[in-house]
Amino acid sequence: MTDDVTAKIVRPWEVFAQDQRTIFCVDRTAGDDPDLDALFADLPPIQRMNQVHGCGVHEVSTPGTSTQIPDADAIVSSQAHVTLLVRTADCVPVVLWDRHSAVTAVVHAGWRGFVAGVIPAAVTAMISAGASVSSISAWIGPSICSQCYEVGLDVQSQIVALSRAALAQTTDGKPAADVGAGVADQLRVLGITEIAHDMRCTKETPSLYSARGGDQVQRLQFVVSVDGRN
Ligand SMILES: [Zn+2]
Repeated sequence: MTDDVTAKIVRPWEVFAQDQRTIFCVDRTAGDDPDLDALFADLPPIQRMNQVHGCGVHEVSTPGTSTQIPDADAIVSSQAHVTLLVRTADCVPVVLWDRHSAVTAVVHAGWRGFVAGVIPAAVTAMISAGASVSSISAWIGPSICSQCYEVGLDVQSQIVALSRAALAQTTDGKPAADVGAGVADQLRVLGITEIAHDMRCTKETPSLYSARGGDQVQRLQFVVSVDGRN
């Protein structure tokens, strides 16, 4: 890591380390890829996705990175040494890992991806890659809270159709949604019980980025380093 690079990093922090996964958060603008690679040069190459608010899963089954960045909203890897990236600013970032294997996933879950089924798609891909649902742990990162996330009734009904836990209204009675709560509920329904949830609101927390709060290009970048045992 060079001084040149660290000077551009405003708030890098380690979110947590557990079961041979370390989650870092770095705040960056969307176009900062070379700097991000330089910052994490001592980790395996970063696996990226072009997030499109869908339910596509990019599966990483061989070491190294492909030159093409796939359109996807989840990356699932069975590699023992790999680095995965998910970017958010209000949407829900999720990291999933199997405690008994190297299988690891990052998921970008905005309301559209949530409704499209990106969470079960990622878990299904993890099981196909060798994970067991009973040994999957989850970390749900900070996202926009329901009080800051007024939505139209049509959007609310699509979200709530998947999880009643996401039903919310603002203090002045407008329809709202709690997608983070919906994600946690969906994971529990899928059989995942080990869930850590960072409940901070991206819009109300000055150190986080929020698209609704006016951050047009800045994104929180969650970098997950896997140093597995197999
Ligand atoms: Zn809020």
